Amino acid sequence: MDRPAPVSHVPNPSEPGPTILRVAVAAPLAELFDYLPPVSPAPVTLTPGLRLLVPFGRGHRVGMLLRIASRTEQDPARLKCVESVLDTRPLLSPVDLRLIEWAAAYYRQPIGEALFTALPARLRDPAPLLDERIPGIQATPAGLTVALDTLNRAPRQRDLLALLARAAPAGLALANLRASLGDCAATLRALRAKGLIETCQLAPGLTPSLPPPVSALAGPALNADQQTAVNAIQGALGSFRAFLLDGVTGSGKTEVYIRLIEAVIAAGGQALVVVPEIGLTPQLRERFVQRLPGPVAVLHSALNARERERNWHRAALGEATLVLGTRSAIFTPLPRLALILVDEEHDASLKQQEGFRYSARDLAVRRAQLTGCPVVLGSATPALETLHNARLDRYGWLKLPQRAGLARPPTISLLDIRNQPLQAGLSSVLRADMRAELAAGNQVLLFLNRRGYAPILTCHACGWVGGCPHCDARLTLHLHPRKLWCHHCGWSQPVPSLCPACQGSDLRRLGQGTERLEDNLRPLFPEAGIARIDRDSTRRKGELDRLLGAVQRGEIQILLGTQMLAKGHDFPGVTLVGILDLDHALYASDFRAPERTAQLIVQVAGRAGRAERPGRVVLQTRHPEHPLLQSLLREGYGGFAAVALGERRDAELPPFAHLALVRAEAPGESEPLAFLRAARALAEGLIAAADTPRIQLLGPIPAPMERRAGRYRAQLLVQCGERPPLQRFLAHWSPALRGQPRTRGLRWSLDVDPQEML
Ligand code: ADP
Ligand code: ZN
Ligand code: ZN
Repeated sequence: MDRPAPVSHVPNPSEPGPTILRVAVAAPLAELFDYLPPVSPAPVTLTPGLRLLVPFGRGHRVGMLLRIASRTEQDPARLKCVESVLDTRPLLSPVDLRLIEWAAAYYRQPIGEALFTALPARLRDPAPLLDERIPGIQATPAGLTVALDTLNRAPRQRDLLALLARAAPAGLALANLRASLGDCAATLRALRAKGLIETCQLAPGLTPSLPPPVSALAGPALNADQQTAVNAIQGALGSFRAFLLDGVTGSGKTEVYIRLIEAVIAAGGQALVVVPEIGLTPQLRERFVQRLPGPVAVLHSALNARERERNWHRAALGEATLVLGTRSAIFTPLPRLALILVDEEHDASLKQQEGFRYSARDLAVRRAQLTGCPVVLGSATPALETLHNARLDRYGWLKLPQRAGLARPPTISLLDIRNQPLQAGLSSVLRADMRAELAAGNQVLLFLNRRGYAPILTCHACGWVGGCPHCDARLTLHLHPRKLWCHHCGWSQPVPSLCPACQGSDLRRLGQGTERLEDNLRPLFPEAGIARIDRDSTRRKGELDRLLGAVQRGEIQILLGTQMLAKGHDFPGVTLVGILDLDHALYASDFRAPERTAQLIVQVAGRAGRAERPGRVVLQTRHPEHPLLQSLLREGYGGFAAVALGERRDAELPPFAHLALVRAEAPGESEPLAFLRAARALAEGLIAAADTPRIQLLGPIPAPMERRAGRYRAQLLVQCGERPPLQRFLAHWSPALRGQPRTRGLRWSLDVDPQEML
């Protein structure tokens, strides 16, 4: 690509400098490019955060103005002029820009990529913003003067008209109206037919403050722990402070969020709530809408691009008072941002796993710092990193140790299944417990974190095992629909009826996935309604809601599924949770496996006994003496975390050290290792030159699954006790890596603070 060439030029300091525009171009380029202002004067003042169309190479590109300078490192005579200014107002504020620039530097992502990842996709093109006028409703002169009691027989029409006349004589955004009144299309039609209201276009700006929704449900009175948490956080509004809200499932964390958001909105501010999963947004949105005034803008990847852009826009214009979204919502511009909440802050999905590998949780803390507002990280099973910060008093540590209301916590017990006869993978004790609960009219939840029918299909005659031709992995047998399927690359093939190696006919299915568990349960519990919830059974749109609805209505007695069950959904009728077969996770190679396993167990356990009926959790294991299980059982998640943090300290792992992982993959077996060996040599040179002996290099080694989707993979780990020297090292190493020659088809990436060691 033909780019503006960097030419060294020493400016004369006595000359008044020209106006130089420093622009980040929407491309994977780490540097900024200098331009002169457009030839014909721009219709708006040139301000950072505006998109510009700039000449680039032989064509042009969209860029964003980041800085206005008076000098340039290049020869000013060679600088080109900006072609045009694309926006009428900056899309990002100075604080937004600082956050993204900080993130780009910290995660070693080219600034242009980082910036345009943070914006709605369409804005990478020279497209104008959406129409900025907001559709609204206004009372007509007749509507403002009509005697309201003439509408007494149509109370919804009367209330709506009263609201318009009282709260918003200048008109009200339709979205606000819906937030206050729910669906009111029929009422609006009726009023319009009577000539009492009319549609209008509102200019963006501050939204009139609304009375709380007419239908607002009153919340419960807070208990003492909740009140302490609310007071502490509310007292911190207006300046930066990070909090860990460490509350067991059902302890009323969401209730605390609602009270805080209420206070923020009442003071004219905006709140941002980040959750790890799209699946968590509908329930949460529903609770927020019922309780809070002002429109909620939802942002996640399941929305179509236009909806997402519109919601982004409503947030950016200050119209939405609350933004609820997944990971990338952390970048949403919010002119009156006053509070950031991250729910389920321990969840690995808050870290982006490809491209711009940022942690939305860590950026939430950074953003709060830049904004000068509090940030709350909420979880029943906080990440060890977060607990560490709380223990060091960097974060305020607010605890909700008890369930709110009447619900009592579940009891967890281990069930040693060594030498026990199993049916459907269930020991006789667990089966008897299930029978007792079902007979009492209760529901049972079985957790098995493996989808499909059987993880292995093998030939009893010759030992053939179905393996993926593209991965170092076995193919999982699925019967609905019937195929052998690779869970790592998505490759599938028909199920053979004869052994492909010896033509023998004795093919056997080893192990049990959720499909098989479901099939095996039916004859054991013929009376029970059974529902399976995993990625396969809920692929069809609406199916998950249908199944969850059936469970809520009591049409289902046994609910089984994968970790989808551990996230967010409450099952108040469930009094017994059986956890089957987590043993393999106890011995996984990733150093985070124990933490993730403990979180999973506690999260699944939290689904049970939420109502007045107490829940019980039975964990089947062949390793009942395992220290992880023992500490979890005796002292709960907090006790487990203390032990696990001790182990991390001894092993010099996060949070006691900081990591960066370089991954490389290529079609040939030796290529990734060769690339990483050269990367290591580069690093050693830098470390010796900068005299930073505390940086350790580990590897390169082949990835735990070396071949995946037909490509060989390897990794090189960088570890350092402190962040600043690691960051300084990465700032030199990553550009050097970019410049390093590589073989065809080799791809590599740098992951700062990696969450998965794959
Ligand atoms: P979490 O977010 O910690 O899982 P929630 O806020 O969802 O907890 O609260 C769990 C349940 O307890 C909800 O049904 C909620 O309405 C109820 N609840 C919360 N706080 C209280 C309280 N102070 N008194 C009574 N019930 C409460
Ligand atoms: Zn065979
Ligand atoms: Zn595969």
